[in-house]
Amino acid sequence: MNIHGKNFIGNELSALSGTSSNLYDINSGEALSGDFYHATSDEVSSALSLANRAFLVYKQISQNKRADFLDTIAEEIMNLGDELVVRTMSESNLPRPRIEGERGRTVGQLKMFATLLRDGSWVEASIDTALPDRQPLPRNDLRKMLRPLGVVSVFEASNFPLAFSCAGGDTASALAAGCPVIVKAHSSHSGTSELVAGAIIKAVKKCDMPNGVFSMVHGSGRTVGQQIVMDEAVKAVGFTGSTLGGMNLFDIANKRKTPIPVFAEMGSINPCVFLPSALNDTKKLAASYAFSITLGSGQFCTNPGLILAIKSEKLEEFKKDLATEITGTKPAVMLSRGIQESYETNKDAAIKQHGISIIAQSLEKNSISEGKPVVASVDAVEFINNHKLQEEVFGPYSLLVECEDAKQLDAVVSCLEGQLTGTVMGEAEEIAQYSDLIYNLENKCGRLLFNSVPTGVEVCHSMQHGGPFPAATDSRFTSVGSGAIKRFVRPVCFQDCPTSILPDELKDENPLNIQRLLNSEYTKSTV
Ligand code: NAP
Repeated sequence: MNIHGKNFIGNELSALSGTSSNLYDINSGEALSGDFYHATSDEVSSALSLANRAFLVYKQISQNKRADFLDTIAEEIMNLGDELVVRTMSESNLPRPRIEGERGRTVGQLKMFATLLRDGSWVEASIDTALPDRQPLPRNDLRKMLRPLGVVSVFEASNFPLAFSCAGGDTASALAAGCPVIVKAHSSHSGTSELVAGAIIKAVKKCDMPNGVFSMVHGSGRTVGQQIVMDEAVKAVGFTGSTLGGMNLFDIANKRKTPIPVFAEMGSINPCVFLPSALNDTKKLAASYAFSITLGSGQFCTNPGLILAIKSEKLEEFKKDLATEITGTKPAVMLSRGIQESYETNKDAAIKQHGISIIAQSLEKNSISEGKPVVASVDAVEFINNHKLQEEVFGPYSLLVECEDAKQLDAVVSCLEGQLTGTVMGEAEEIAQYSDLIYNLENKCGRLLFNSVPTGVEVCHSMQHGGPFPAATDSRFTSVGSGAIKRFVRPVCFQDCPTSILPDELKDENPLNIQRLLNSEYTKSTV
């Protein structure tokens, strides 16, 4: 299939700009097909006004029809076949099994939201019927449910070209919520985005969804991206990427005439606390952590970038075992030249900090496209006093903080910034003894794990992928799992509302047969 490089302005393709960019294979340097036309200000405005108009229609489309739409997007993505896999591999440098797995996850997310919509109870409908005879004052009929916010702007993530990109979790949850979406494609995998956007538009047409319910534009974040976020039509933003990018968009959104929420997931160093009993089998521990640190060349926001432990002979043994694992791990190709360069710069800045010693690095020389695995260590006091050591080094890097005792371990946990995850390694009895420290760690993170590694984020109802700032801009929400839909809705109360206007979810007969809080009781019964 030919890559046309055009913007999707609703259902139309458009390339009005004279500015375009190309993509190159990171290894061979060979140009990949496609000139990607940066959207002009007029094209962005057209997409936004189409989306705004589409919202009025889309928000009234039933949950069942929206579910069919999401299922059709999933089908159309699968219909792209191997072409999508091959293009994504060449743009992201990720191996086939990872891309096929990610495609499965993307399709799975869409289907999960479709199932959620068919059940319908997620809207948290509650009804307090009128009490006309109540003394001293009567009560009105009050009915509340979650309703869509409006147009959502989605910024694709570089490290998940499918699952956190064009039809990824942000887009799927926003469309499920009843919100039109405008995607700013990531410049490192524009061809992948084009193929997926084409699949979404096919589904829009097949399911007779309003033109403008989905658009996708190419161009730089600072021009195209910022124009979208500044536009009054946009009511929320979904973002995964750097702290700088996320915070820029957050600041812009808050300075608007009408500020809007920006749900930015900006990374984390994912502290892993090794209690003394975790070191009983140092070889096994070192093997599982070396694997997690270097998985996907460390390009996961849940990468274990920080290990905390109390000094002991067993810790020395662990360091030796970790060194053996890391020296034997080959450098792997990173997502893009830019990300590889950032890794080199950030890792070099981290290991030049006072008091840092390198435990080990891969013995193999890395090419300019590869990230060399490195693990380092530092004393707890140095760590507590140097905030630079808490900055994410996106890539196969981890820092071990060595503490004198349990009190110092707790002091290190206390000084940590907000994180996506916090991990505790240790035996059950010891975990119970360290409960204060563990609850301290819970205050810092969105997901608390025991005896595992933080990489691997399940897409399900109970997942929390978000955390206290600066891991994310709003720790009350998740960007993974069915809870992600809650970012793009707001509660609306309908008071004494005529049945003709009342959404089905709140009608007396409960036509959707959903769970509701009816006069303080959870039930599916009619009013
Ligand atoms: P990024 O630079 O934050 O870019 C993500 C998206 O936001 C891109 O579409 C980018 O547009 C846009 N953007 C960036 N700065 C912006 C701004 N000031 N205003 C408006 N839009 C802006 O992230 P990246 O390119 O994916 O990777 C860069 C670094 O981010 C990595 O090296 C890593 O440190 C970090 N990262 C973290 C995670 C994580 O999960 N924590 C994931 C990916 C990356 P352009 O097309 O103009 O760049």
